[in-house]
Parts: sequence; structure tokens; C-alpha cells
Amino acid sequence: HNQDNQDVISANEWLTKLYHHLLRHSKDGKEAYQYLINRGFTEESINTFQLGFAPNSKDFTAQFLEKKGFHLQQMVKAGLLSAKEDQGVTDRFRGRVMFPIRNHLGKTIAFGGRALNGQEPKYLNSPESDLFRKGTMLYNFDLARPHIRREQEVVLFEGYVDVISAYNAGIQNGVATLGTSITEAQAKLLRRYVDQVTICYDGDEAGIQASFKAAKLLKQVGCMVKVSHLTNGLDPDEFIQTYGAERFKNEIIKASDTYTSFMMRYIKKDYNLKLEGDRIQYVEKVLDEIALIEKPIEREHYLKELSNEFNLSMDTLTLEIEARLQKLG
Ligand code: ATP
Ligand code: MN
Ligand code: MN
Ligand code: MN
Repeated sequence: HNQDNQDVISANEWLTKLYHHLLRHSKDGKEAYQYLINRGFTEESINTFQLGFAPNSKDFTAQFLEKKGFHLQQMVKAGLLSAKEDQGVTDRFRGRVMFPIRNHLGKTIAFGGRALNGQEPKYLNSPESDLFRKGTMLYNFDLARPHIRREQEVVLFEGYVDVISAYNAGIQNGVATLGTSITEAQAKLLRRYVDQVTICYDGDEAGIQASFKAAKLLKQVGCMVKVSHLTNGLDPDEFIQTYGAERFKNEIIKASDTYTSFMMRYIKKDYNLKLEGDRIQYVEKVLDEIALIEKPIEREHYLKELSNEFNLSMDTLTLEIEARLQKLG
């Protein structure tokens, strides 16, 4: 079993090197290389993240792995090859830009392969296995760890491209959940290393929903949470490519909302504050969130904000908070 995992890691490591070499030096890799450069990837980030290219071939990878002495059925299970009755064992990743997914020791345990010309699926990932459980690992944790320690903060992204783009822009304490929302295991993993988490998911509806879930979960496991505010549906990479690294750092990362501000903005979407009934319900919901704040100064800050916005006395609001605290015990 353990030996199986070692073999799969070894195959993934060989392919990381091979695909990277093909991206950099082969005729077939030129289009993929140009695609990455056009998207704003630098040579340095291509090297740091060992990006690669899997050729558009039926069995290039299969032949390589066979020559190296790997057991092909095992490679099928690992998702590097596929087996179809009529064609035998063939390559699973074809004509894709390859993002090696490394474990905490920096070893490649899986790949994400991105289509170049709008083919579906856009991303093809290695399948889940003992070795690769998406819900328990974080992309780039190995490289980000010393930066997380130094900054005492981690930035959480949705995708590999965002992590790499941010890294290139000077935000090196970034990791990604490989999908949209964070799991409890990932939240606890982060909590062991760091107090402060900045969620920087895509600015589209799915990203905002996922930010809400992630913020709740990270708060539950005891993190201090901030949430970046990307507008117009942009994702972090698109923001960096459009507006540059400095604006990303200052206007997105440094200017992230506090947990409570994010919640207030998030809850607001569901109400029409021109209607009295909605206004009352909104204030009630926000008070539920403010009651969770531990620091008195911070709590008073948001109560004042509510007091001003809705012309309610601080006395009334304070009574409401006390009632909630009693209920929470
Ligand atoms: P790009 O900028 O290359 O389009 P992205 O990171 O912006 O990539 P999103 O669609 O925002 O892509 O998806 C975020 C992350 O979710 C991806 O990096 C990938 O890890 C994962 N993902 C997206 N689509 C798929 C898919 N079809 N299958 C598996 N994983 C996917
Ligand atoms: Mn998205
Ligand atoms: Mn995205
Ligand atoms: Mn993107």
C-alpha cells in the first residue's frame, strides 16, 4: 500500500520533470508556453511552479511510464493514464498545460491539466485517491509555509492560477482550495499554523457564496477572518493582470473587509432596505453577527455603524446584544 503510494509519487515526479521540459524546450510545447506568457505568467513562475505541457498524443505518457518500468494498471488508478476496452492503455492528459499539485513535502502527488483552446472540461484533475484527497490538502502549502509563518497570515484562493499570479505579484503566503469552498479538515490544517486568514475568492456569485461558507467555517475553528472584495466578477488573477500588483496588494489584500463588515454586506443582498420590515430583519441579523464579536471596542464600532445608519439609539442596540449573549449562554 505504502509502496503503491511511493510508486505513484515517483511517476508524478518523473512526469513533472518531463512535462516541464516539454513546455520549455519542445516544438509541441511552444503553443502552451506562449499561452502562459500571453496570460501574464513569467518565466520565473513557470519554473518555480514547474508548469508543464502534456502532448496531444494517444500514448506518449503511457510509453514513457512503461519504459520507466511502472505498472500501467497502477498508473491508470492514479489517473495518469486511462484504460478503454477497445484502445488499451492511453494517455489521460492530452494537449494540456500541467499544474503539478505538491504535497507538504513538495512532492507532486497529482496534476491539474488546463485545456488550451476552450475544450471541456477546462480543468482535468487527477482523481481522488489515498494519496490525493482534495479536501484535506491545500495547493502551494509547501512553498507558502515560511511566508505564512513570517507574515502570520495566509491568503486563501480558489485556484492554482490565482496563487501563482499572486506569488508573482509579491503575495507569497497564498494557498488554494482545489474547488470552491474550504472543508473542515483544510480549515483545521490552516488553524494549526496561523491565526489570520484572508479569503480572496473570485468576485463572481459562486465565489461570494463560497467566501461566506469559508468565513463561517474558519471563524468556527478559531481563525481571525478577513474577506477581500473583488468586484465585477473578477478573480484575483484577472485583477492582477488588469490593474497590476501594487493595486492588488493595496486595494484588495490590505483593504480586505473584516469578518463583520463582510457579513453585513453579504446579508444586505437579501433585503430591500427601503422597506421598514426588511430594515428591521436586516438589523436583527446583523446584531446576531455583532453578538459574536469578542472585543468590546470592535463590537461598539459596528453598533455605532448600525446606530447611525438606521437611526437607532445605542441603548436599544446594547440591550439587543445583551439579550443575544444571554441566549448564547
Ligand atoms: P483560469 O483562470 O485558468 O480560467 P480559474 O482558477 O480562474 O482558472 P475557476 O473556474 O475560477 O478557474 O476555478 C477555480 C479552481 O477550481 C480551478 O483552479 C480548479 O482548481 C478548480 N476547477 C475549476 N473547474 C474545474 C473542473 N472542471 N474540474 C476540476 N476542477 C476545476
Ligand atoms: Mn470561479
Ligand atoms: Mn477563477
Ligand atoms: Mn482565472
